[in-house]
Amino acid sequence: MIPILEEVEKDGASWQEMCLRLGRILGLDSPVPGSVLRRARADDRFAAHLMICRGTPDLLKEALFDAGNRAFERPQDSAERSVTQLGRGLVSSLASWVADGARFAPKDLHEQRLSTCRSCPHLVDPPTKLVYRVALVGSSDQRVCHLCGCVATRKARVASEKCPAGYW
Ligand code: SF4
Repeated sequence: MIPILEEVEKDGASWQEMCLRLGRILGLDSPVPGSVLRRARADDRFAAHLMICRGTPDLLKEALFDAGNRAFERPQDSAERSVTQLGRGLVSSLASWVADGARFAPKDLHEQRLSTCRSCPHLVDPPTKLVYRVALVGSSDQRVCHLCGCVATRKARVASEKCPAGYW
């Protein structure tokens, strides 16, 4: 399990609370579907992919509605909002996220954060798994923070992001 999921599960959170926490970590103002949380807990690659997609709304939307999530649906999920409603909420929150400028940090802050990451022992080469190769298209420095699974160049660009080790 990647460290960020330990944060989601800490203090014996209820299922609804865990869905909400994961949604917030991903930059949403709504909980993720139960199927997404179940898959993230069962599949480290998927969980890492979600973290990587945080800075890229289009990729994040694809991951949240990926057909592979269906295998993790359970009858109790029918009590959740409909997929259409959820989709509307997610699109809306992603749109607000971009619209309010939260997506990008100022250039000097971005550089400062990157400089810290580049000298950090937690910055490592990414696994050569397909999920990473797809998510890393367009990024020149592909190294990831192994504490949260994010591509550091993307993570540093998102204004609301925080270093999981408290370095920035
Ligand atoms: S986000 Fe923090 S812990 Fe991760 S690589 Fe950057 S400085 Fe290190």
